[in-house]
Amino acid sequence: MGETNIRAVCAECGYEFTDLSSREPCPQCGGTRRHAYVTMRETVKLRESTVLEANQPGWKGFVRRIVDRTKLSRQGKEAREILDIDRSDLQKTKKYHHVEELVNGQWKTVHDTQEEFDARRRPPSARNL
Ligand SMILES: [Zn+2]
Repeated sequence: MGETNIRAVCAECGYEFTDLSSREPCPQCGGTRRHAYVTMRETVKLRESTVLEANQPGWKGFVRRIVDRTKLSRQGKEAREILDIDRSDLQKTKKYHHVEELVNGQWKTVHDTQEEFDARRRPPSARNL
């Protein structure tokens, strides 16, 4: 959502018209040419994303991956999210997902799950240890 500002200025003397729709000559110099200036201002929110990835020789894919980012939720609210996938355990893959939304200026947790899955795609060498 932005902000739009329109100004009408006499081309001869710079008089600023208060009534933008007025077609009367300039009350100051009688000039009939005018310039219109349109200013638009947009508020841009910065969104960021950090990805931390731990790798190990011999492993396909990562050992652990943490994504920390801010985004716009489906409802158009500011949101921040952490997704942590930990594969360092040879039997289990752990997934942690946490989402907060900005509601009336306060961060509110809207999603928080911790899941475990059976490990897949572990290096054979690691499995034999
Ligand atoms: Zn004028």
